[in-house]
Amino acid sequence: MRWSPEPGEPFKVVDGVYWLRVPLPIALDHINLWLLEDDDGWVIVDSGFDAPMCRDVWSTVFATVIKTMPVNKIIITHFHPDHIGLASWLALRCNCPVFITKGEFYHYQSIVNRDAETYREQANAFITEMGYPPEMSEKFVEFMQNDDKPADARVQEAMCEFIQDNDEIVINQRIWKVVSGNGHSPEHACLYCPTLSTMISGDQAIPRISSNVSVYPSNRQTDPLGDWLSSCEKLRDTIPDTTLILPSHQEPFRGIVARMQQLLDDHYAQLNRLRLSIDAPISPVEARAVLFDRELNTIETLLATGETLAHLNYLLHRDEISMRYDDDGVARYQKNR
Ligand SMILES: [Zn+2]
Repeated sequence: MRWSPEPGEPFKVVDGVYWLRVPLPIALDHINLWLLEDDDGWVIVDSGFDAPMCRDVWSTVFATVIKTMPVNKIIITHFHPDHIGLASWLALRCNCPVFITKGEFYHYQSIVNRDAETYREQANAFITEMGYPPEMSEKFVEFMQNDDKPADARVQEAMCEFIQDNDEIVINQRIWKVVSGNGHSPEHACLYCPTLSTMISGDQAIPRISSNVSVYPSNRQTDPLGDWLSSCEKLRDTIPDTTLILPSHQEPFRGIVARMQQLLDDHYAQLNRLRLSIDAPISPVEARAVLFDRELNTIETLLATGETLAHLNYLLHRDEISMRYDDDGVARYQKNR
């Protein structure tokens, strides 16, 4: 299906579950949010970007759909600004809690509270390590500082109720089970309702977009790709294939098993391409050119570099390769003999 509802016109996908399409002021031009009918009101899943075009959609929805009904809770799948951006604004407007995992909330808090100067130094060192020439450093660092900067209206801990894997949230007398995933973000929450055979998948399962899995200065030594592949296997092996998947981008679909397998296969193919190309020591920038062999703009370059690093760290964590810092400060990776 390539059809989607007009912004501000919730479309019923299954009993009590409405698809709300909201435009975004970024390259990815929309997000899907979900409105769930509760016994005596509504539950909102994800909130949109903190931008006028998103607030306008909500104003329409409040005027035409929610009206005077209460909103009982807002559930946030993960900390990315298109998902959490308006959570605080909505929670204050509706006087209701924000349900979110601890992993997502505390990571969001670490971005909110980080010291700009310290982060600038970290980002500078990171860009040098990657092997970018100094003249490109400023542009990238500037971008990294602003890219994930949270909205002015911020979610406070006192607004939150923390959820975790396997928790059961009852909405309209039906159980929605929290299914956590890692790698795209620290502790992403999907919501699976066996009774409706429906799963709100956030960014864990999208029909034709492969979610970014990246290493940043804040998780430089970690293995997010290993986490992501495990999460894909978990969804492939535990969610029935007939389940209707409601993703944050593009359109609802069925066939979670094939989609997860496709993502796994694509990452395994990328890992093999890397294995074949690191006989001689290479920098992340050189490795990126192997995995992403095309023209990229600034944001694409940074995402591609982060994702390349995730693949390098995957091999590093499995002792297939080693990394050393050369005198120029650049990290170089080489196959272990
Ligand atoms: Zn995301």
